[in-house]
Amino acid sequence: MGYEYVAITDHSGNLSIAKGMDEKTILKQMKEIDKLNDKFEDFIIFKGIEANIDSFGFLDVPNKILDDMDIVLEGLHSGFNQNSKELTRRMLTAMENEYVNIIAHPTGRKILDRKAYELDFEKVFDTSKDTNTILEVNSHLNLLDLNDGNIKMAVEHGCKLVINTDAHSPIHLKNIHLGIATARRGWAEKKDIINTLPLKKLMKNF
Ligand SMILES: [Zn+2]
Repeated sequence: MGYEYVAITDHSGNLSIAKGMDEKTILKQMKEIDKLNDKFEDFIIFKGIEANIDSFGFLDVPNKILDDMDIVLEGLHSGFNQNSKELTRRMLTAMENEYVNIIAHPTGRKILDRKAYELDFEKVFDTSKDTNTILEVNSHLNLLDLNDGNIKMAVEHGCKLVINTDAHSPIHLKNIHLGIATARRGWAEKKDIINTLPLKKLMKNF
C-alpha cells in the first residue's frame, strides 16, 4: 500500500460476533507486534484495540492494558435502542476517557440496514474537539461513517478525523479509497485527516 505505518485494532472482549480478544490474546498479539517491529526498518505497526463502550459509556478493557496501547478505538456495538440522550451521554463518557484516541463508526449507520443513532451532534463534536478525540471516517462500503454531512459539520467544529478501513481481512485495506472519497464529499482537507501525516508528526497526536 506504500504506507509508513498501520494500526492493528482487533475487537476486544465480549463481542462474540467479532471474535473479540480476551486479555491473554491481547498480550500475545502485542508481543507478536513488538517482534515484527524489531525487524522492520522503515515501517511500524501500532498496537491498538477497538474496545466496546458499555451501556453506561465505560470500556470493556482494563486501563492497564489500554495504557500499553499506541492507539485505542472505542465503538458502540450494542444497546442501540437507547434514546438519544442516553446514547449521547454514553458517547461523551467514552470520549472523556483519557485512553481513548478515536471513536469508531461514530453514528452506527449501516447502509440500507440500520439508521444512524440519534446523537446530539453539537455535543458530540464539541466534546470531540475539547477532549482531542479523533472521529473515524470508516471506509467499509456498508458503513461510510461518518457520512459526508457529518464530516462537514465535524470539520466546522474543528474536530480531527481519521480515515480507517475497518479491515477484517487484508483485502479490505483497499477500501480506503471509499473513505477518502467520503471525506472529500464532506469537504475535509488533508489538514483535517490525521493519517495523512508522516509518522513523526502523527506521533505528536497520541
Ligand atoms: Zn466496530
